[in-house]
Amino acid sequence: MFLNGKRALVTGSTSGIGLAIARALSAEGAQVVLSGFGEQAAIRALTEELKAIHIPADLSQRAGVEALMAGAGPVDILVNNAGIQHVSPVEDFPVEQWDKIIALNLTAAFDASRLAIPHMKAQKWGRIINMASAHSLVASPFKSAYVSAKHGLAGFTKTLALELATFGVTANCISPGYVWTPLVENQIPDTMKTRGLTREQVINDVMLAGQPTKQFVQPSDIGELAVFLCRDAAAQMNGSNLSIDGGWTAG
Ligand code: NAD
Repeated sequence: MFLNGKRALVTGSTSGIGLAIARALSAEGAQVVLSGFGEQAAIRALTEELKAIHIPADLSQRAGVEALMAGAGPVDILVNNAGIQHVSPVEDFPVEQWDKIIALNLTAAFDASRLAIPHMKAQKWGRIINMASAHSLVASPFKSAYVSAKHGLAGFTKTLALELATFGVTANCISPGYVWTPLVENQIPDTMKTRGLTREQVINDVMLAGQPTKQFVQPSDIGELAVFLCRDAAAQMNGSNLSIDGGWTAG
């Protein structure tokens, strides 16, 4: 197990993609720090399953990110994954939702990275993996805050990559298309309302319409990609924006 002795913090890892990444890193021997919200019993089951610790900080607040990083201690692998979505036309977009999406999906990655980097630089090894999205490359209507945050995260990743390149630390982002997780399922009702569609129409005509394979990405696929980015074979992958979107952004 090539990640024995490595400590990995995955933000937003009580659900969906983050949980799949935490499981994949743990399966390779990493000691995992879980973050995010959920039912106490479910989180207890996860900490037992992965022999992990869990820190439930609100990462849409700078103080929450600082508390998480202090609690996690020095980490060798940082996966900035926590994120939320809101679907609304720009002129009706609730300003609090805009602020929260930028704070969680973009600013938290900056704060976690700036606090993780000194240890990584000092030991001359580290991996920063940012969970971007196909929406870091292309836009969709009604997702202004999300698209803005994810484009920002892709740019931040490139900057990290340049700054850290000579320290054995890589920074890359992963850009999934639609992955079947609670985040996707929860946006179906709003999309039905905003576009006047049925549930089936939202799934087939909105979500999978632009995904040429007509299939959702599996969270475990992303877990495996994250593991690969931690390998020595990925040492020269730096500043990449890795699409895993069934061909969405190829079109
Ligand atoms: P999810 O809703 O299943 O999981 C989100 C995680 O973030 C949960 O653990 C949740 O508790 C945590 N979280 C939410 N708000 C938080 C806060 N304020 N502070 C700390 N943690 C918080 O979502 P997911 O689909 O697994 O998405 C994970 C990431 O992948 C997000 O950044 C998302 O934008 C990105 N992504 C998802 C898809 C998709 O189709 N599901 C596609 C592209 C990118």
